[in-house]
Order: sequence, then C-alpha cells, then structure tokens
Amino acid sequence: MLLEEPEFQALLLLHGRDRRKIGVETELRDLPKVREVVKNKIEIEKETIASAQIDLRELETKANTLGNLIASIETKVSQQKTKQLKVKRQEEYQALENEIKGLKEQMSANEDEQLETLMKVDDARSTLAIAEGKHTDRVHSLETQLEELNEREKLLQEEISELGNEIKASGEEMDPTFLREYERVKKVVRRPPYVVPVEDQKCSGCNLRVSNDIVSSILVEEKLTLCDQCGRVVYIER
Ligand SMILES: [Zn+2]
Repeated sequence: MLLEEPEFQALLLLHGRDRRKIGVETELRDLPKVREVVKNKIEIEKETIASAQIDLRELETKANTLGNLIASIETKVSQQKTKQLKVKRQEEYQALENEIKGLKEQMSANEDEQLETLMKVDDARSTLAIAEGKHTDRVHSLETQLEELNEREKLLQEEISELGNEIKASGEEMDPTFLREYERVKKVVRRPPYVVPVEDQKCSGCNLRVSNDIVSSILVEEKLTLCDQCGRVVYIER
C-alpha cells in the first residue's frame, strides 16, 4: 500500500522536516517581539525607580524650604521682640505685639506642615527602598531572560541550517515526480500540514469529507492523491 512505499515514506520524512523548519522559523521571526517586551519591562522598572526618586527629592526640598521659612520667621519674631523692648509708646508696643502674634501663628502653621512633610519623606524613602530592592531582583531576572533569548536565537539559527541540509538531502533522495507534486501542493495550500491522513473518510487537513474516488485512488490505485477539497496530499493510515 501507498503508505508503506519508500517513496511515500520519504515524502513523509521531508514533510516532517519542512514542518519543523517552518515552526522554528516562526519562533525565530517572533523573537525580536519577545525581546522588545522584555526590554520594555526593564524600562518600566527603571521609570518606577526614577519616579520614586523624584517624589522623594520633591518632598525633601519642600521640607527644607519649610525649615528655612520657620527659621526666618523665628528671626523676625526675636527682632520684633527686641524692638518691643525699646519702644516707648503703648500703640507701638501693641502693634509689635500683634505682629509677633501673627508671626507665631504663621510659624505654627508652617511647623505643622513641616511635620507632615517629614512624615511623607519617611514614607517616600521606604517606598524607594522597597522599589529598589524589587527592581534589582526583577531587572536581574529580566536580563537573564534576554540572555536566554540570545541563546535561543543561536540555537534556532543552527536548527534552521541543519533542517535546511536535511530537507535538501530528503529532496535529492525523493522520487522527482513526488517531489514536484509536493512542491506544487505547498504553493497551493500555503500553510502546513501539506500531507495529512484521511480519517473516517474526512481529510484531517480541512476536515471535509473526501469522495470515494479519493479513497479508491489511495487504497486501490495506490497513487499519490490530493484532497479534492483543500489540495493537500492525503493518505490512509492502515
Ligand atoms: Zn482537505
């Protein structure tokens, strides 16, 4: 029967190699996309750290500014107190007293804000520390992934070249008529598989029922037969 013929076995071998090569080529073609995804993840990690650093820096600046402001109000208060000691008139004394009161109120409001800001600085500092810790681990594992992808790429390229040689060898050993027919089928079908078994009188490539003529061509005439629906080479496994 056809399936047992060496020519047909050679065709199956070639087909298997072709399919493997197509699979490997697809993986190789998609590799840059996978690499981009990993690289983007590394970028996002870096941006997270950068934004945590900016947050911390802004809060520290704010706390410093408030500290300076409080110090300057303090100076003003003591200057006005000194002035108070020297004034003679009650109105002047009272005016200074009001000014000092106002300054003290300002100072108290600024001190509250400073305290709040310093607490935020502490939080931002620990957020940054946690982010940096996680970041180092994550970036390390992402960089390992990139290295593995480079290795994989080399391996795939080697496999493609080996399969190319094997396919060439298969083609040279094959019956030229079979080979021509197979090459034609590949052009018509476009996507593997190109050689498929018929099961329950259905082509397992397109899942459609094949005619009795097809079955008889395979089983009785033992010819290289194509599915009358999709054009794939069909055979029967029994
Ligand atoms: Zn079919």
